Amino acid sequence: MLSISVKEFLFWKKKQLSKGGNIQSFAVLLDCIGGIPTSELNLLKINPEGKLYLKKNLDYLCSVWEDHLFNSTPIQHLCGISFWRDLKLKVTNKVLIPRPETELIVEIVFKIFGEKSQKLFFAELGTGSGAIAIALALAYPFWEGIATDIDQDALGIAIKNFKDSSEQSNLRFCCGHWWNPLESFKGKLDLAISNPPYIPRDTYEELPEEVKNFEPKIALLGGEDGLEHIREIIQKAPLYLKKKGWLILENHFDQGEEVKKLLIKNYFTSVEIVKDLSGIGRFTIGRYK
Ligand code: GLN
Repeated sequence: MLSISVKEFLFWKKKQLSKGGNIQSFAVLLDCIGGIPTSELNLLKINPEGKLYLKKNLDYLCSVWEDHLFNSTPIQHLCGISFWRDLKLKVTNKVLIPRPETELIVEIVFKIFGEKSQKLFFAELGTGSGAIAIALALAYPFWEGIATDIDQDALGIAIKNFKDSSEQSNLRFCCGHWWNPLESFKGKLDLAISNPPYIPRDTYEELPEEVKNFEPKIALLGGEDGLEHIREIIQKAPLYLKKKGWLILENHFDQGEEVKKLLIKNYFTSVEIVKDLSGIGRFTIGRYK
């Protein structure tokens, strides 16, 4: 541990932020590499005469920050960690960095199912870091979940994240394409949830470097029109969902109406587009008949 005066640290922090970036990313750096949790950071200004203990020296932290700023490396990759809801998740370039707007998908589940504690079966298709499935498994210890992913490396990360987040055993992980690993759950799922790759090809090419150069294409690109995977998930959903089972999907900002149509065409009812906190129709939900 390195000791430094609060005054010196605050001066240094201001200098780093003046180079660019945002305070949230800087807070991730200080927490994960510097060993200063955000809660402690907020208290520093109250005691400017005090001392502070860092896990790494300021020069090292500065070099990581500059790697983030000048090479567009996501801060989550440099730190190996992403904070999402109340979870601290390991991330690498094998998984999508869970997005803040996706946090709301868990609230949609809470709204539909309330605090029901009876046993339900749920699946998350394309779990990546495991964020959604882990949040649900922890919120509903009586539910049984299965999280799938086509990439074995991604699944390894999700499994580690679940083990590190809890002692629970109500979430299993299976490798495979969308519904394929769920053969034995045909007609048994009360809920299926997915944030599949939905970026249209043209849009993908224009994504910021920070995303395009570092995050897995397979987790972002949804074919020519972005809807390739959403279409497949919806078309096969009736085989796996129980009668009245729910399907909850995240989609691109302008895909809500199209996804709604697809759900209705495949005999879903109670179909609704749910807005995210920016007022974007980010999620589309429905029940199978
Ligand atoms: N929301 C993500 C992004 O904009 C895309 C996630 C996805 O394709 N499922 O980068």
